[in-house]
Amino acid sequence: MKPKVGFFSFTSCEGCQLQVLNMEEQLLDIAGAIDLVTFREAMDPIDSDYDIAFVEGSISRESEITVLREMRRKADVVVALGACAASGCVNAIKNRFDSEENLREVYGDAARYYDTIDARPIDQVVNVDFYLRTCPITREEFARLFTSLLLARRPYDPNFAVCVECRMEENVCVYDMDAGEFCMGPVTRAGCGALCPTYGSSCIGCRGFMDQANFDSMVQVMQDHGMAREDAVNRLKMFNAALPEAEEVK
Ligand code: SF4
Ligand code: SF4
Repeated sequence: MKPKVGFFSFTSCEGCQLQVLNMEEQLLDIAGAIDLVTFREAMDPIDSDYDIAFVEGSISRESEITVLREMRRKADVVVALGACAASGCVNAIKNRFDSEENLREVYGDAARYYDTIDARPIDQVVNVDFYLRTCPITREEFARLFTSLLLARRPYDPNFAVCVECRMEENVCVYDMDAGEFCMGPVTRAGCGALCPTYGSSCIGCRGFMDQANFDSMVQVMQDHGMAREDAVNRLKMFNAALPEAEEVK
């Protein structure tokens, strides 16, 4: 029997759903291997239970907490689809500022109509089984995880630094070149294949932190290469302000 699959979204730009729809060559195979019951960007929902829920977006309203809990109750497997769901992503930058002031700044007199809470990854509300961590997810990562789920195998989810993959790509480190770039590879979870450093940009930490990351050293390295401490701390938190580890970084 094919698994019933739903794609859901909370606070996000929905770019991760779009990445799945952009898998032109594999899309028919994917659709043929599952019973798709909901996918907001692609179809009207079918009133049905589901086995696997791909959940995109962070939780930033009380009402989303209730919906997510109900989703968790129904699904056997919950996958965090992208950085918003996995770590809070840029949505959580607002957590660092006064919520009332944020609302007034963005919505002015209409602020009272908006229900908003600190943005958080979905695993701060429910248990999550598997993660796709990048912003946006890559098609390769989705295909790898999707195949693992169909084969009942544990998906690949490395817990080491992007630097490992960067060195495997034989890149010259931006810090060795002293290129005026500030890369977060040493504290960021691998799994993207060091995509950004390989194509000439520094890692900005969208995949969240690996366990036991050394934040003090990371900030010190950025300072040593000319970045002000405050900017280095802000950079560390840009995608990760909702993670408890980010509070260690001052
Ligand atoms: S992880 Fe990035 S691309 Fe995906 S929904 Fe969030 S902001 Fe959009
Ligand atoms: S460029 Fe970035 S990811 Fe690559 S080795 Fe240097 S710090 Fe690590």
